[in-house]
Amino acid sequence: MSARASHDVVVIGAGLAGLNAASLLQAAGADVLVLEAQARVGGRIHSMRQLGRNAEAGGTYIGAGYERVKATAAQHGIRLIDVTPTLQFFREQDLVLGDEIIRPTEWPDHPANPFPAEHRTLMPWTFRRALPMLDNPLASPSDWLDPRHADLDISMRDRMRGLGLDDATIDIGFSRNSTFGDDAADVSALLLLFRAAFSRAQRALAPKDTVGYTAENGVESIPSAMAGALRREVLIEHPVRAIESRRDDAVVHCDDGSRIRASYVVCSAPFGALRNIAIDPPLAGRQAEAVARLRAQALTQVWLRPKTPFWEVDGYAPSLFTDSLPGMVAAARSGADPSEVTHLAAWVTGPHAVRLDALGEAEAGRQVIEAIAAVRPAARGQLEFIGLHSWGGDPWAAGAWAYFGPGEVTRYADTMGNPHGRIHFCGEHLARASRGMEAAMESGERACNEVLARLQFGLSPSSPARF
Ligand SMILES: Cc1cc2nc3c(=O)[nH]c(=O)nc-3n(C[C@H](O)[C@H](O)[C@H](O)COP(=O)(O)OP(=O)(O)OC[C@H]3O[C@@H](n4cnc5c(N)ncnc54)[C@H](O)[C@@H]3O)c2cc1C
Repeated sequence: MSARASHDVVVIGAGLAGLNAASLLQAAGADVLVLEAQARVGGRIHSMRQLGRNAEAGGTYIGAGYERVKATAAQHGIRLIDVTPTLQFFREQDLVLGDEIIRPTEWPDHPANPFPAEHRTLMPWTFRRALPMLDNPLASPSDWLDPRHADLDISMRDRMRGLGLDDATIDIGFSRNSTFGDDAADVSALLLLFRAAFSRAQRALAPKDTVGYTAENGVESIPSAMAGALRREVLIEHPVRAIESRRDDAVVHCDDGSRIRASYVVCSAPFGALRNIAIDPPLAGRQAEAVARLRAQALTQVWLRPKTPFWEVDGYAPSLFTDSLPGMVAAARSGADPSEVTHLAAWVTGPHAVRLDALGEAEAGRQVIEAIAAVRPAARGQLEFIGLHSWGGDPWAAGAWAYFGPGEVTRYADTMGNPHGRIHFCGEHLARASRGMEAAMESGERACNEVLARLQFGLSPSSPARF
């Protein structure tokens, strides 16, 4: 079959990174076509209106300093609202160790609290966020890639040991429900210092007591509006299976057998999905190694509807941070009334998520409900399973977000996003100064600039504008 059309740029993936690259390239006059594997745009942004007005399965919180996300929302007339009431669960959570529920008021003097004296009042979920903020040598987030800090590209466990913390503190203070890696040995401290430096910068810009913002009608309204503003409609349900970079052009091969020709390709597929795209000529060296090896966080969200406010019966907080299968069970308030719990979202990470993913959905829901009821009898019979999403099992995401293991920042971060022939790369995993949604936008902007620098000399005659 011959290539059916020709464009200046084909963008693979309609998440924030790909859509930002496409929008900016279009604004600069390029003829751009976006191909998306799934039946919807947004990728790891996925609003769940059925759970509540502001409920999200993916990206939720927009930091005060997310300049690109904020500007894009404003450009499309999307109102941002304070997300703090929705995230109330961080402030009203009890800890579960074994079969005991421990209130924050009991924790400082609790015999299971292993934290050193100065940190005994911190709950584990606060401790692990606070720790990389302390003694953080990164003056600005982008410093994480400065070779001066390469000695921090060690495991978080080794860094915590270096700070004089014992194994019990590392276990309870980091490894339970870790959102980076399976445990503290699995993730680079340098990545967490970067993340902490980024969070610190965001918090400094937010008004007091405001965590950040979210989009009034769901974050997915942002990528939807970006896609809607493209001159060429995004081709959804168009999984790409191969990319050829040739001397004079590139050819993208889709699962349906179609081939699309372009001067350049911008690929935003997360590495776990990129592994299934054949690249010709193949990637080489550390770039190939990074695509093959960089891991992404196993995370499965399980949504439950409470039939009654059973937390009023047992007097514990509606949200629990458990050390078992349900992980962090967050009581979300995603409706119009921020005092009403709309649903519980169990954030199951690491090995627990992998275990859950091996079960059928209904069985996974049943086991999570049973594990909650086992520690909290008042919940028995009061929870209804309404659905789940496994980000690790999602073939187009292959994990919630990329993370670097010890040594991998220095080994991969600088080179893994380099252009390969006519193929350029973007995606949250390739950002240098931001995290999360802003990282995706940053990386799309960089890929756009790389392509624009090359396109200036080779725009196709049909392109509507000149640079
Ligand atoms: C549970 C969760 C909570 C989060 N919370 C926050 C938060 O509060 N704040 C924040 O800032 N960030 C958050 N994030 C992170 C944020 O959502 C992501 O960083 C961002 O959306 C990633 O955008 P992306 O474009 O890089 O990747 P994606 O959104 O994954 O886009 C990649 C796109 O490529 C498509 N694709 C993949 N393979 C192919 C193929 N072969 N052919 C065609 N298309 C393909 C995918 O379908 C997808 O649409 C969260 C993420 C998750 C999962």
